[in-house]
Amino acid sequence: MLRKKTNGVARRPQGASILRDAAHKSVDRRTFLKGSGLAAGGLAAITATGGSVTKAKAQSANDAVNLVKSVCTHCSVGCTVIAEVKNGVWTGQEPGWDSPFNLGAHCAKGASVREHAHGERRLKYPMKKVDGEWKRISWDEAINEIGDQMMQIREESGPDSVYWLGSAKHNNEQAYLFRKFAAYWGTNNVDHQARICHSTTVAGVANTWGYGAMTNSYNDIHNSQAIFIIGGNPAEAHPVSLLHVLRAKEQNNAPLIVCDPRFTRTAAHADEYVRFRPGTDVALIWGILWHIFENGWEDKEFIRTRVWGMDQIREEVAKWSPDEVERVTGTPESQLRRVARTLANNRPGTVIWCMGGTQHTNGNNNTRAYCILQLALGNMGTSGGGTNIFRGHDNVQGATDLGVLSHTLPGYYGLSAGAWGHWSRVWEEDPEWLKSQFATVTGADGKEKNLMNLTGIPVSRWIDGVLEDPANTDQPNAVRAMVLWGHAPNSQTRMTEMKKAMEMLDTLVVIDPYPTVSAVLHDRTDGVYLLPACTQFETRGSVTASNRSLQWRDKIVDPLFESLPDEVIMAKFANKFGWADRLFRNIEMEDAETPNVESITREFNRGLWTIGYTGQSPERIKSHMANQHTFDRTTLQAVGGPNDGEYYGLPWPCWGTADMKHPGTPNLYDMSKPVGEGGLCFRARFGVERDGDNLLADGVSNPGAEIQDGYPEFTMQMLMDLGWDSDLTEEERLAIEAVAGPKTNWKTDLSGGIQRVAIKHGCAPFGNAKARAVVWTFPDPIPLHREPLYTNRRDLVADYPTYEDRKFYRLPTLYASIQKQDFSKEFPIILTSGRLVEYEGGGDETRSNPWLAELQQDMFVEINPRDANNLGIRDGAQVWVEGPEGGKVKVMAMVTERVGEGVAFMPFHFGGHFQGEDQRSKYPKGADPYVLGESSNTAQTYGYDSVTQMQETKATLCRISAA
Ligand code: SF4
Repeated sequence: MLRKKTNGVARRPQGASILRDAAHKSVDRRTFLKGSGLAAGGLAAITATGGSVTKAKAQSANDAVNLVKSVCTHCSVGCTVIAEVKNGVWTGQEPGWDSPFNLGAHCAKGASVREHAHGERRLKYPMKKVDGEWKRISWDEAINEIGDQMMQIREESGPDSVYWLGSAKHNNEQAYLFRKFAAYWGTNNVDHQARICHSTTVAGVANTWGYGAMTNSYNDIHNSQAIFIIGGNPAEAHPVSLLHVLRAKEQNNAPLIVCDPRFTRTAAHADEYVRFRPGTDVALIWGILWHIFENGWEDKEFIRTRVWGMDQIREEVAKWSPDEVERVTGTPESQLRRVARTLANNRPGTVIWCMGGTQHTNGNNNTRAYCILQLALGNMGTSGGGTNIFRGHDNVQGATDLGVLSHTLPGYYGLSAGAWGHWSRVWEEDPEWLKSQFATVTGADGKEKNLMNLTGIPVSRWIDGVLEDPANTDQPNAVRAMVLWGHAPNSQTRMTEMKKAMEMLDTLVVIDPYPTVSAVLHDRTDGVYLLPACTQFETRGSVTASNRSLQWRDKIVDPLFESLPDEVIMAKFANKFGWADRLFRNIEMEDAETPNVESITREFNRGLWTIGYTGQSPERIKSHMANQHTFDRTTLQAVGGPNDGEYYGLPWPCWGTADMKHPGTPNLYDMSKPVGEGGLCFRARFGVERDGDNLLADGVSNPGAEIQDGYPEFTMQMLMDLGWDSDLTEEERLAIEAVAGPKTNWKTDLSGGIQRVAIKHGCAPFGNAKARAVVWTFPDPIPLHREPLYTNRRDLVADYPTYEDRKFYRLPTLYASIQKQDFSKEFPIILTSGRLVEYEGGGDETRSNPWLAELQQDMFVEINPRDANNLGIRDGAQVWVEGPEGGKVKVMAMVTERVGEGVAFMPFHFGGHFQGEDQRSKYPKGADPYVLGESSNTAQTYGYDSVTQMQETKATLCRISAA
């Protein structure tokens, strides 16, 4: 259904007007078909592209066709799906032509989401394993049995022995409720996929300039004069985003530079492809920056007024002479000089990265190095610039924002007493009761500590929560029950150990529309439950795209089979545990087990002041969805219509209450606009002084700011000092007084008054500071190159060693003790991994989709021809890929120059084969995905980021041999 475009805007097919006429005459679908002679597919297309998302008035109820708007669930671009529903059955779908994000385009995954919902291979009813056989049970039996077992474990071993692993597939309401649910259960052992895709981004970026998210948007790339992509392959991982990237390339003649160890489908579009050795991102960036500093191409005024610590970076970069960069990265020095000059001559340019950069033991260093490159070029806070960090799953941004994480409550409030105090106020909960739900441990200082204030075990390490001797951990007992709620276990490394961990658990619970690899990886005969969750097309709620915009999904069909929405399953468990009344105290219930979704949105609107999730009421988000056609395709701003002046999806921060009508913030830190109109500055998050330097912005502020300089974050005391407190209403003043009087700040004021008044005077509630190039709180304050744990460059280990072993996130974590062993003789090939366009994540849903399964039927490993020839391996042959920790996979060889010599690549979406064995017979009957294959992570090894515990999947070692 692609149409030629003019002026960069997709035009509707002319037939759309026929549809409008038809709709006005209340002609039903069948009558129209008869009259027009169009094929069914043609009508579906016209119907959707006409944008008339209204209920067709049918001549008979049986023929009524409803068009329902939803959002694709397969990546963070957020493409609109228009579903055609007849008699409660989803009969057809089209891409949304009015959506500013996808402009009528879909990739293969989005184009086949109907099969995702209507999938024949879904879990259809609750099941449990009894004596090795799957047995159908009722929901009541499931909740009672699982609930009893969990409460017994809680009694015997404490609440932390049950791990609640949530999902990037939750919508925002479910994500928020899930984090709250874990808090009421009494544990921080709660996490989700973001830990293993972009946690190093969130930590690195937030600690550089304030917020851990994509700064601009897919659409804003239209304004980029250069595009620099590193460790990302959007042509496969975010296909529709290429619409926007290629528009800049064609319209602005913007050079596209792609840095990747593998020549990807994205690289095929590049003007400059930079191949570099996996795991050397910092060295590569410093190599580019070396030329920028050497030639004085940095933006000196931007750095002077808005950046702290660049002098220290300059000293580090000076060590990275072109020959040293080439020695470490393998990239020719002449190429990096050319890249540096291109970036300097084409400003503003954007930097885009994905998991190629994040999934490393020093991933937080990589993400900060990318940020520093942009700060040096003065490319931040400007349209066309920014760090456009493409998130993975459809709601991984939202689930992160809503706090499905082991180190924070919703909104990145953290786990301090103050954070719990804030959320207790929002929830109107007794803080002492909440505290009593948690276990305590005795700290090294002999003092008792409540685990509510200590980070939980991250998902990347849950297996160590089971396998590690509790004496070595910071929690009282091992994990005994595991709930995998919308999580693909094959997206995680060390699968041979995961198998063992799964077998050691008392209880394994899988809650998912599909059985997932969790159903078959282990050899358990009992104690496994599979509970069928709905897809997002069978419920409703908001979802946050990568650019921080919120969109609303309407329900397309009622829950299929015996599946239930996540919020209902949570309510069932809360009822079983006896605290449903508390959990839903301020949430309307449609019945005892059905929370009202909009009411959940309104509850998080009342609490998420930190990142401005307060202005996006359900009504405002729905209005944007209904009026997508009124938004500009580049600026995302509505031109007239009911949302005039607002930015599509009210990208956070959307300050204050919904009544304040803040338009959302399209580009973070953009000082060209007033804060009240979507402008912003860097956040004053790291204090006001460091080493005698002022950390606040130097003499710059947003237009209209009444403080024409840097300033700290707003508190009630600050309002009083400025004399602005008189602008508060009496109601706001009372609410502020009730929190902490003059100490109440912009994050804890439940009235939004402090935010409102600060913005009234043109100021950002979170202050106006410099970004920091040096994060003095991190293990490497200045980003450093460190060799991967498993490296075959033994000559570099002495110069660029990894970290010393250390303990954090409750667990001992190994670095030097692994790196000091030389595995390079036995395992000489670097192993990396990535995505394919046909599949997503662990791949269970997409490999169960017949249209997608058809497209990619074999798991494979890419091997360079020289390596293949030396190993005696031919294209298409079966090979073993073995990792140094004993995991091995049997896959098909793809001999290709996509990978360089000495590097192998595997996609990570496959599962259902394990070390050469087909496990199809272990799935419940009829629920096995069409395509099975080895999981690349079976051969992947140990290795975790030094700040976030992100897993290392992009630079380990392997050996390959003919099978
Ligand atoms: Fe759009 Fe991503 Fe869905 Fe493809 S997978 S249709 S790019 S949201």
